[in-house]
Amino acid sequence: MNNYDIIVIGAGNGGLTAAATLTQKGLRVLLLERHNIPGGCATSFCRGRFEFEVALHQLSGLGTPENPGPLRMTLDKINVLNKLEFVPMTDLYRFVMPDKIDITLKPDRAEIIEELQRHFPHEKEGIQQYMDLVYNFFTQVIGVFYLNDPETSRKKYPLYYQYALKTTQEVMDQFIKDPMLQAVLSPFWTYVGLPPSKMAFVDMAAMLFAYIEFIPFHLKGGSQALSNAIADTIIENGGTIRFNCGVKKIIIENSSVKGVITDKGETISAENIISNASKLTTYVDLIDKNNVPEPIIKELKQCSISPSAFTLYMGLDCEPNQVGITESSNFLVPGIDNDYIYERMKEIDIDGRNAMMLSCYNLIDPGFSPPGTSQVALVTLKYGDPWLSVPPGQYVDEKYRVADAMLKVVEKTFPGLRKHIEEIEIATPITHLRYLGTPRGSIYGFENHIKDSSLFIPNESHIKGLYLAGGSVGLCGFQPTLDSGVITAKKLIRDKAA
Ligand SMILES: Cc1cc2nc3c(=O)[nH]c(=O)nc-3n(C[C@H](O)[C@H](O)[C@H](O)COP(=O)(O)OP(=O)(O)OC[C@H]3O[C@@H](n4cnc5c(N)ncnc54)[C@H](O)[C@@H]3O)c2cc1C
Repeated sequence: MNNYDIIVIGAGNGGLTAAATLTQKGLRVLLLERHNIPGGCATSFCRGRFEFEVALHQLSGLGTPENPGPLRMTLDKINVLNKLEFVPMTDLYRFVMPDKIDITLKPDRAEIIEELQRHFPHEKEGIQQYMDLVYNFFTQVIGVFYLNDPETSRKKYPLYYQYALKTTQEVMDQFIKDPMLQAVLSPFWTYVGLPPSKMAFVDMAAMLFAYIEFIPFHLKGGSQALSNAIADTIIENGGTIRFNCGVKKIIIENSSVKGVITDKGETISAENIISNASKLTTYVDLIDKNNVPEPIIKELKQCSISPSAFTLYMGLDCEPNQVGITESSNFLVPGIDNDYIYERMKEIDIDGRNAMMLSCYNLIDPGFSPPGTSQVALVTLKYGDPWLSVPPGQYVDEKYRVADAMLKVVEKTFPGLRKHIEEIEIATPITHLRYLGTPRGSIYGFENHIKDSSLFIPNESHIKGLYLAGGSVGLCGFQPTLDSGVITAKKLIRDKAA
C-alpha cells in the first residue's frame, strides 16, 4: 500500500492546478489520469502533418503584463507563466448572419462601442449604457463575490443587488430594443450553452468583462502546451503523475476518505482526495451508493447536464484568407431567435438553422500549422442524448452525414473551404464521452441556470477528505477551471491546518 497526503483524480485543468498548488506546499501528491496525456479537454491530437487543438478557442482573463488578469496571476503563482508563450487575439469576434449582417468587434471597449454605434445608430445610448453596466456591475460582483467584502450591502453594491438574479435577456431588453443588436452582443452564450433567456446575466457579464478587459489569447503550442507545462511543474515540485491509470473506486469508511482503487485493481491510501472527474461521475460511479451523502443526492437531482459538441477539426492546404477566413474567432449565427437555436441543439441534424463557431489561430500565429496551410476548428453545440441512441453499426455513417451537412452550411460564408481540406477529424458527443468520461459527453459540466450560476454553485462534498475541482463545481471554461483547482487546493490546505 502506497501512502500519499492527497490523491488527485483526473489531469484536466482543475486537477492539474490543484496538484501544482499542493506540491508547491511540499505535500505528497499522486495525480491519476485515465488518458495517456494531461489536459482533459485541454489537449491536442495529431493527424497527418497537423497537431489539432481540441478545445481552446479563446483564453479569457489572462491580460497583459501591464494589465494582468486573474489568470495571469494564477499561472504565475504556480510557476508556469514563464514556460508559456501567449499570443493576443486581434479580434473579439466576427459575427456573421448570412445575408443579414457581417460585423467584426475588436477586443477594446471603446472600439466595440464605436463599431456597434456605427452599425446601430438608433441604439447609440443603449449600447453605451449596456456596456457601462456590464463593467460597473461586474466590478461590484468582484467586490462582493471574489474579494468577499465583509461589508456587503445594497447601498454599497446597488448594481449587484439589482442584476445578480436577472437573465441576460432581461438585462439586454432593458437597454437594447433591436433584436439584431441583441444577437450581435450575445454569441458568447454558446460558451456556456444556455441562450440569453436562460443564461444568468452575471455569467454573461463575467465573460464579456474577462474577454474585453483582458483580451482573448491564444497559446503557442495550443492548450496542450499549457497542460504539459503544469504537469512538468508538478513533477519538478516532487509530485507523481500516473497516466493510463483511471480510478475505479473512492474508498470511504465512516464518512471519511481512505484512498482509491485504480482500474488495475491497485489500492492506494490517502486521507484526502481531489476529484477532477465530473461531480456526477464522482458520486455515481466512484463512490458506493450507501456512502453518498443525502445533501449531494438532493443537489444532483436538481442539476441538468450541459450540452456536448459536434466538431470538425480541419487541416487546410491553403492560407486562411484563401477561403475568406479573416479573423481568428467567427460566430456563424442563423438568425435572431436564440431560443430556437438552443432547441436545435437537441437534434442530431445540422443545417442552416444551427449556430457554429469557427476558429483559426493561423491569423495570429502563422506557425500554428505547416507553412502554406491552416488549421480550422468548426464547432456546434449538441446535447449528447440523441447521439447515445444511434445504433453502433450506424454511428460512422451518421457522423459523416452530419459532417457533410455542416460543411455545406459553412461554405456559404467561406466558399471553397471543402476542396482545401487535407485532413479532417470529426468529434461527436460520443467522442467527448469516450475521451473525457463526462456524462453524455457534456463539455460544460452542468447547465448554469440562474440558481446554478457562478454565484451559487455549491462545492461542499459532505465527505471528510473529499474535494472537487473543475467544470462541474463552477463555471466551465479554461479560466474558471484553472482557478477552481487552485481554490480547492487552498481550501484543503486550510482544512488540514485547522
Ligand atoms: C470542443 C470544446 C471547446 C471549448 N472551447 C473553450 C474555449 O474556447 N474557451 C474556454 O475557456 N473553454 C472552452 N472549453 C471548455 C474547457 O475546455 C473546459 O471547461 C475545461 O477544460 C474543463 O476542465 P476540467 O478541470 O473540468 O477538466 P476536464 O477537461 O473535464 O478533465 C477531467 C479529466 O479527468 C479525467 N478523469 C475522469 N474520470 C477519471 C477517473 N475515474 N480516473 C482518472 N481520471 C479521470 C479525464 O480523463 C480528464 O482528463 C471547450 C471545451 C470543448 C470540449
